[in-house]
Amino acid sequence: MSRISQLAEALRNNQIDAFFAQAPISMGYLHGFWESSHERFLTLAISSTGELRLICPSLSAAQAARVGIQDIRTWADGEDPYELVRELASDWNLKTGIVAVDDEMPAAMLLGLENALPTALFRAGGASISSVMRSKDADELDLLTRSGHIADRTFDALLGFLRPGLTERQIERFINESMLDLGGKPTFCIVGTGSGGAEPHHLTGNIVVQDGDTVVLDFGCSLEGYQSDITRTVAIGSASEESKKVYDIVFRAHMAARQAIRPGVTSHEVDAAARAVIEEAGYGPQFFHRTGHGIGLHGHEEPYIAPGNTTVLEVGDCFSIEPGVYLEGKFGVRIENIVTVTETGHRSFNDDPSASITVVG
Ligand code: ZN
Ligand code: ZN
Repeated sequence: MSRISQLAEALRNNQIDAFFAQAPISMGYLHGFWESSHERFLTLAISSTGELRLICPSLSAAQAARVGIQDIRTWADGEDPYELVRELASDWNLKTGIVAVDDEMPAAMLLGLENALPTALFRAGGASISSVMRSKDADELDLLTRSGHIADRTFDALLGFLRPGLTERQIERFINESMLDLGGKPTFCIVGTGSGGAEPHHLTGNIVVQDGDTVVLDFGCSLEGYQSDITRTVAIGSASEESKKVYDIVFRAHMAARQAIRPGVTSHEVDAAARAVIEEAGYGPQFFHRTGHGIGLHGHEEPYIAPGNTTVLEVGDCFSIEPGVYLEGKFGVRIENIVTVTETGHRSFNDDPSASITVVG
């Protein structure tokens, strides 16, 4: 079944009459149309019966035709794009309908839509499109595997590079260049040294790595749009008893979550498996984020591996497992792999992390 047909089915299941895609990732995933119109109004509209229409600035018409979109309605600068929305609403009977929009649609466009169709109901469309996007096909799994491989090889190279005296930014630069050399497009990089590692989203800066520091390295790239995301924690020169102990707890939590993965379990259960290990070790309050997030064309997407999330995992779901313990003012430890659910459990897109903290430099 085509992705458009799958989305149409999801719309019918959710009693939604049409979906207005606007984010390049959504339109690219659905129809190979990776167009960003910036502030100009553009939407790829899909009805619950599988009809497709693009409303776009004239500037985007050629690209749209090239990817095979048949029904293209353009507007030129100086014209009102919402006239085309009213026309669509007449043709598809949406004036009192329920329309889902991409979660990422800019507020200005949603407000413009609400103004153009005052008796239609607008809904967040994330649940509908993510129900289609979360299950990855063979080509997507291959790209995620290769993207993960680039992250692994970058970490291997990093082990020979890390030493006291480097700044976090120098380490970031090495990571980004390595991913580029291996064919990936760097997307983000967090280097958290010492107490910086106790901030899960530490802003990589000019801190100089010292002998005895614990360093959290979290980075990723995209390959044809498919994301990787890995976290490793290492010690520079030597590891303290406390960092060895905390690393061991986080490693066991990481593996416990992975052992819990199989089709039919809930996101909550996988999260709880990691959380139980950390709580039993007495560090529950120092693990203050979810265990993981889905990944694909988005760096973060469904399913979220979080407390209370009753989403049932299915074959083809792809997500991170990344428990952490953060000791404010001291250091942090996080260990992250990307995995996919298989018939019998899971497969990791990354090499297994070291069972004890790796000492480098
Ligand atoms: Zn990460
Ligand atoms: Zn992550």
